[in-house]
Amino acid sequence: MKLFLDRHKTLLPRVDRVFLLTRLMILVAVGWLVLGESGHDRDKLLFWIILGTFTVNLGVLFAAVNGRFDLKLAYLSTIIYDLILVPTLIFFTGGIDSSFYLLYFLTVSVAAYVLAFWFAFGVTVLAVATYVVVTFNSMTAGDIFDMSMRIGLIVVFFAAISYASDFMRRSEARLLKLFNTLNRRTSELEKSQAQLELIYENTRILASILDTEGVVKEVVRIMGEVLQHDCFALIFRDRWGNCYYRARSQKGRHNFHLKTIDLETEELLARVCAMGEPVSINDIQTRDDYTPLSDDARSVMLVPLVSHGSTNGVMVAESGEVGGFKSKHVQMISVVARSAALALENAELHKRTEELTLIDELTETYNYRFFVQKLEEEKRRALRYDLPLSLIMVDIDFFKKLNDTYGHETGNVVLRKLSSIIKKCIRDVDFFVRYGGEEFAVILPQTASDEAVAIGERIREQVESASFDIGPAGFVHITVSVGVSSFPENGKSHEELVSAADQALYLAKGEGRNLVCIK
Ligand code: GH3
Ligand code: MG
Ligand code: MG
Repeated sequence: MKLFLDRHKTLLPRVDRVFLLTRLMILVAVGWLVLGESGHDRDKLLFWIILGTFTVNLGVLFAAVNGRFDLKLAYLSTIIYDLILVPTLIFFTGGIDSSFYLLYFLTVSVAAYVLAFWFAFGVTVLAVATYVVVTFNSMTAGDIFDMSMRIGLIVVFFAAISYASDFMRRSEARLLKLFNTLNRRTSELEKSQAQLELIYENTRILASILDTEGVVKEVVRIMGEVLQHDCFALIFRDRWGNCYYRARSQKGRHNFHLKTIDLETEELLARVCAMGEPVSINDIQTRDDYTPLSDDARSVMLVPLVSHGSTNGVMVAESGEVGGFKSKHVQMISVVARSAALALENAELHKRTEELTLIDELTETYNYRFFVQKLEEEKRRALRYDLPLSLIMVDIDFFKKLNDTYGHETGNVVLRKLSSIIKKCIRDVDFFVRYGGEEFAVILPQTASDEAVAIGERIREQVESASFDIGPAGFVHITVSVGVSSFPENGKSHEELVSAADQALYLAKGEGRNLVCIK
């Protein structure tokens, strides 16, 4: 059982200084008595003792209020001291006629304020008992009513103060509990806000990455470093609905090897793809529609990557705890998923746009822009590794005449067909481009001039022997002239190589066309 009430944890007013003031007033009253005329010398000595002890008690209380002494003990000593002092004072100042009985109100109120209920009650009973004892001799029958009134008042005073302070204490306890909850909620909110801001900052980077590879790497970094998932995966879904792992990570080890996923067995994943909504499973060991990435996984969340209404992938995170993912985790990963889906779509669009600028619409082959980039790139590689490199230029003979005879549209049909013939004559490693108009070029990496001439010859032969279907007008035949140049013998820069091939082509034209020439 607790002796003291817990005063320091409440918001109740601190009455220490007020109490000190009242004690000081009592000291003055006692001093007045001592210095006054009343009483015998014998009594005077007693009063000097009282004055001395009271001063000591006041000193202790003063020191305690100023933090030099345990305040609780100071109060307790004051209460005990009063239980002796007050009856003594009453006894020596006229018993029932003494006004010092008023001091009991102070003793009882301080007890009710600082002590637990039953101890304060005990102090009240002692106060009443000592009062009765010291006034008993001086009491007459007429004083009984007066006496009972005083005792009744002391008890009511105790009850009122102890009820009021208990009521306040209880209200405060409720208030403090409420404050605590509020504080906890606020700090939780602040924490989630800070986390969301961090995620937002990190996902903003995603928007600036233009290649899929870069987006994948950044998403993996965010999942590991920012969201702090131990085990997670990034799944891609192609336009035919097939799913495959694009990245997986366990305990900081990333794996970017692609791996197909069988949606027949991975029903949970299939459902997330179909619904386009996040799913969080508290205990995966109770289910057979999901195969965990890690052996010690207990819970999982799957969040789809949705852009323009279609699911292009799924982000997966696993936890070793049952119910490891709360709604705030799903919310946070969803923020990343939204940005990742957009970034991936962006990267895809960027790639397609890039490709479009390098492709010739009519023949669906690479264009001049691509040719310049590629030839420079291949020339550098040839230089670095000391490899041969050749270039073939193809120009249709008398194409203007064909256009004039059959029309421009027919000329286009012939150009398309010619492209497909040339493509069949070259290897996978070669680059075929439409150089411009009715001129084509082939870049032949790691190919020396004699081999290039052989390929040029093959092209020339295939074109010569082909019949070009031009619709109702029937078939036409064409021939091409071919110029070949090789690195490094015909030039060290790509411009020199092109110029050499051009000159060889010019030579072929000059020699009568339908020829392969080398500079
Ligand atoms: P040669 O090369 O044998 O000297 O004679 P040529 O008549 O082929 O002469 P040249 O190479 O200078 O002719 C280019 C012609 O190609 C001119 C133009 O009518 C035609 N041409 C260029 N681009 C296109 C095209 O995109 N479509 C069509 N149908 N014709 C084109
Ligand atoms: Mg030409
Ligand atoms: Mg021509």
